Amino acid sequence: MAGIRNNGTTRPATADARPQVRPATEGWQQKLDEEGRPLLQFASPKRGKPPVHWADLSVDERKAAVIERGLPAFRAKQLSTHYFTHYTDDAAAMTDLPAAGRDELVAALLPPLLTEVRRLTTDNGDTIKFLWKLHDGALVESVLMRYPGRVTLCVSSQAGCGMNCPFCATGQAGLTRNMSAAEIVAQVVAANRVLAEGGLGGRKKGDETPDRVGNIVFMGMGEPLANYARLMSAVRTMVAPQPDGLGMSARHITVSTVGLVPAIRKLADESIPVTFALSLHAPDDTLRDELIPVNSRWKVDEALDAAREYFDKTGRRVSIEYALIKDMNDHAWRADLLAQKLLERGRGWVHVNPIPLNPTPGSIWTASDRDVQNEFVRRLNDAGIPTTLRDTRGKEIDGACGQLAAADA
Ligand code: SAH
Repeated sequence: MAGIRNNGTTRPATADARPQVRPATEGWQQKLDEEGRPLLQFASPKRGKPPVHWADLSVDERKAAVIERGLPAFRAKQLSTHYFTHYTDDAAAMTDLPAAGRDELVAALLPPLLTEVRRLTTDNGDTIKFLWKLHDGALVESVLMRYPGRVTLCVSSQAGCGMNCPFCATGQAGLTRNMSAAEIVAQVVAANRVLAEGGLGGRKKGDETPDRVGNIVFMGMGEPLANYARLMSAVRTMVAPQPDGLGMSARHITVSTVGLVPAIRKLADESIPVTFALSLHAPDDTLRDELIPVNSRWKVDEALDAAREYFDKTGRRVSIEYALIKDMNDHAWRADLLAQKLLERGRGWVHVNPIPLNPTPGSIWTASDRDVQNEFVRRLNDAGIPTTLRDTRGKEIDGACGQLAAADA
């Protein structure tokens, strides 16, 4: 680390001579609060709530719901099997339920939540991006990706986002509303249905992985920790064994956040050890204040302390997300400062996932050059921080979050 001591607020004198591009918005205006700072929206605007759905309910509430409709409790298990094991909410397919009143029952308890607006598939077929319309017309996206040995779904947790990060397409329109737990879960159910129908290509010969979503990343639209209760309800349903839930493993669910420190602490105290990711993007407050507006509330050191606490309480190694932006946050001294700040908090608790920025064309926001990316990764690895460059899936289908919904709005 070249012996540089740095409090993170200034660029060291020995730093490389590359320019420092500062964040600025182009072609759109960042919403500001009364004090002229980037507006942060934590509370969901009041809009018509989505209908309550089977996946919003606990197992006991599901039983109560069928009993209330004059049916025996065991019907709840049948409905759950249809939805969470067969991924269907089609009454006609539920032939084990009494035909009389079946349509009404399903319409009441499993109302449709997502309407497919568009589906974009990469040329080799291993990535599908879905654009969904919610009951009130709000648009959200999810992205289904096949990797060797696993299938990952990137899900949305809010329509829009209130965190106002200037490089993120979702932030530009602000927060429309929180998604319900069932709207979050429904993205997984829909993806599993597509998989069951053979809709995701790219499967290699000899790949024996079950053809269903095994990994979930909360890296679609929204700030999951700003929608905490519904996020946790959705996660509980994802990890509940089938047929009461999707039977997924918590460690295969990644919750990614800009760094809402009190919510990170709360998450660490849940007994569901999901994988935790912090979107850091800069190790110095000077730059992070501009890149991640919530840094005005919780600084780099506070966010990293909370991330370390997450590891201490759960034993789960945390991920640091770092979008490499040319001449903005990709300087060698920043790699060194990041390594220093992580090592100050110990070894073996964290790994770094740099990802080349997925830019909107023609802006100052450009992905770093390949050699700069490699140098950034090398410095972290040499310092003893496991670091792997992530690939950018689905560029040709506007994989960067919010791009498709933004184009349709
Ligand atoms: N609000 C959460 C989760 C949604 S964004 C969060 O910020 O973590 C998921 C990840 O995509 C975050 O790390 C985010 O910073 C990153 N991201 C957003 N826009 C991007 C872009 N244009 N290129 C690369 N990564 C981007």
